[in-house]
Amino acid sequence: MDTNNETPRMQESILTNAEDGVVRWSPVKSIWYLGHLIVAIIGGCLFFNWSAFLVFVILTALTLCLGHSLGMHRRLIHNSYECPKWMEYLFVYLGVLVGMAGPFGMVQQHDLRDWAQRKNKCHRYLRHGEGFLRDGWWQLNCDLELRHPPTFVIEKRIEKDGVYHFMEKTWMLQQLPWVAVFFYFGGMPWVIWGVSARIAVSVTGHWLIGYFAHNQGQRDWHIIGSAVQGHNVPFAAYLTMGESWHNNHHAYPGSAILGIYHHQPDPGWWVLNRLMNIGLVWNVKLPKDLPNRPELTCLNNNGLEKGSIRIPKRCVFLRFLT
Ligand SMILES: [Zn+2]
Ligand SMILES: [Zn+2]
Repeated sequence: MDTNNETPRMQESILTNAEDGVVRWSPVKSIWYLGHLIVAIIGGCLFFNWSAFLVFVILTALTLCLGHSLGMHRRLIHNSYECPKWMEYLFVYLGVLVGMAGPFGMVQQHDLRDWAQRKNKCHRYLRHGEGFLRDGWWQLNCDLELRHPPTFVIEKRIEKDGVYHFMEKTWMLQQLPWVAVFFYFGGMPWVIWGVSARIAVSVTGHWLIGYFAHNQGQRDWHIIGSAVQGHNVPFAAYLTMGESWHNNHHAYPGSAILGIYHHQPDPGWWVLNRLMNIGLVWNVKLPKDLPNRPELTCLNNNGLEKGSIRIPKRCVFLRFLT
């Protein structure tokens, strides 16, 4: 089933194939990740103090929520809401600080996976189809080279943006100003916990959730014909700022809300909902606003008709009516 109109940045030719490729060790990715991991494990023990741990917690939460979830994923990648340009830059910058990639790299990695997972078959790298340890090695230290990949064509709005090009070229270096600030105010403990431990935990956590969200867990929705299904990982809802409701995301990729039921906490949505109420966010897309997908089927009674959604006027959390 070709649903490529839903991932328009991935342009196919007659040869394009989501399955045929090889996984190769990526020195830069691997050294970046393992370097921070080693510094985090050894330095984190040697230089632990509670103020450094607090810096770690606050900056991790801010960069994952405003940066990774709201900036990179829900705004830049899925265009699920609109906001002032300064806010988009700020959120995407915080997403860069997570330490996974620059704006272009993040969009490309996400869309390649999104595109491939909608096919009947795709490479095990792209569907987290290997065993736990091998998948960890692959995702955190290697890249997949497809023999005939789709051509990545990003929209003009991002392609022509000098700020995003600057962030892309310097995404690793963006940690350096924070190294200086943390060293000045808190010495080595703040540097290690505020930078390396935060990056190691965020990147490792991102892989862990990706692994479980494509292998096991509860589902309300099934996508007919897809190489892999998304699963919900409920215990990680708060830690991931709502991103772990991944079965919902596979069902409604363009929705700004991920925890679509009352019992599904979605901190990213709570922030977005409040920003919407003070007028800083608008054109918020919800499941009911998305085009009908014939391949989307509901697995149980929790899956409600799209017409049964309500939209709050003020600070009321939006949910499907149950
Ligand atoms: Zn997925
Ligand atoms: Zn997505």
